[in-house]
Amino acid sequence: MTFETLNLHEALTRALQAAGYTEPTEVQATAIPPALAGADLMVSSRTGSGKTASFMLPALTKVLAARGKPATPGTKARGPRVLVLTPTRELAMQVAKAASDYGRFVPGLRVATVVGGVPYGAQLAALRGPLDILIATPGRLIDHLGSGKAVLGSLDMLVLDEADRMLDMGFIDDIRLIVEATPKARQTMMYSATFAGHVGRLAQELLREPQRIEVSSQTEAHGDIEQRLHWADDFEHKNALLDHILTERSVDQALVFTSTQRDADWLADRLHEMGHSVASLHGGMPQGRRNRVLQGLRSKHLKVLVATDVAARGIDVPTISHVINFGLPMKEEDYVHRIGRTGRAGRTGLAVTLAERRDSGMIHRIQRYTTQRIPMATIVGLEPKRAEPRPAPVTPLPRGAKPGKGFGPRPAGKPFRPAGKTFAKAGPRPAR
Ligand code: AMP
Repeated sequence: MTFETLNLHEALTRALQAAGYTEPTEVQATAIPPALAGADLMVSSRTGSGKTASFMLPALTKVLAARGKPATPGTKARGPRVLVLTPTRELAMQVAKAASDYGRFVPGLRVATVVGGVPYGAQLAALRGPLDILIATPGRLIDHLGSGKAVLGSLDMLVLDEADRMLDMGFIDDIRLIVEATPKARQTMMYSATFAGHVGRLAQELLREPQRIEVSSQTEAHGDIEQRLHWADDFEHKNALLDHILTERSVDQALVFTSTQRDADWLADRLHEMGHSVASLHGGMPQGRRNRVLQGLRSKHLKVLVATDVAARGIDVPTISHVINFGLPMKEEDYVHRIGRTGRAGRTGLAVTLAERRDSGMIHRIQRYTTQRIPMATIVGLEPKRAEPRPAPVTPLPRGAKPGKGFGPRPAGKPFRPAGKTFAKAGPRPAR
């Protein structure tokens, strides 16, 4: 399929050409036609699959169609035509960038972002003026609705991006309040990794005769991402493995995940002392600093980013060649989101998980969730001394799938000897 067959407005096909896209991705090819026809959609599509354009191109089509038309009868002419709700500020910024990129030839396109953690002034100014597309996190938008500064009476399209995550973060009441402020006749597109349980119930509540689109579920193999699991004897061993991996020549840029904000700061300090160009990124940092760090990553001034889960949502930097799980995620589905930060935009990526014995429960849960075994790997000279925990039964690797490099039995009797490796220069690890 080509973009021509989607019959998009010329301003949009030009932008797609300028972005260098030759054909729609699967989620774009499946979701865009019903979205253009006005259907409500429930879409599951893995991160990195091109899902942003699958709602942004129909959204921009609405904006183009509304040019010169009066506002919806009975409503004031104020307020956006399209609202995209996202769980995190980073994802909101990412979606806003996509809106500007895909909408670069839409004359006078007005896009605004309303997220928490930044001053109100610029947001208020943007909300006062005419607006086409508003991208918001629920909490801050509720503030602006409460004060009457945000008006959603002219809305044609509502998009809920990563709806499962928004509900996990406790935004259900905020979402309901926001939806109440929108016209009933709106079109609604809901994106979520799953539509089981409360996400499905919310979909039933908000969507009218929705079409269900499922493109690549989280249980499908990540073809572009090679996964590896390294067992570490202890924290010191884990540091040695990380240090070794970060010095491999194949590392273009690495995203290292920790479980806590304090671990992220501590590890970034340690890597900095070792001479890496590194920064940390987590929800405890002011938004301005978070933006600067992300900018540093995009411009390749940073080679290593140490981040927590929440902050890493929405990071779309195609040059991230390695995702390293230094601390395991709290939830198994976050593993899928984490590794999806590499292998993007047609590139390949390596996702390495460093696990200690006490992490074996989470490793089992991740493997059950993805129904794939993460192939085990070792590094010569850094093999674990202890036997790996016995793997729990999972659906075996699909036929033809190859285990990662270095997979195989641990050389018998070879002790872990981190010869010449530097450890933990930044002082003791903080207590949890
Ligand atoms: P997303 O899943 O929306 O975060 O997109 C993942 C990456 O794929 C982004 O870097 C997009 O710029 C890129 N992308 C989106 N659509 C296409 C396409 N049709 N062809 C090539 N790359 C694309």
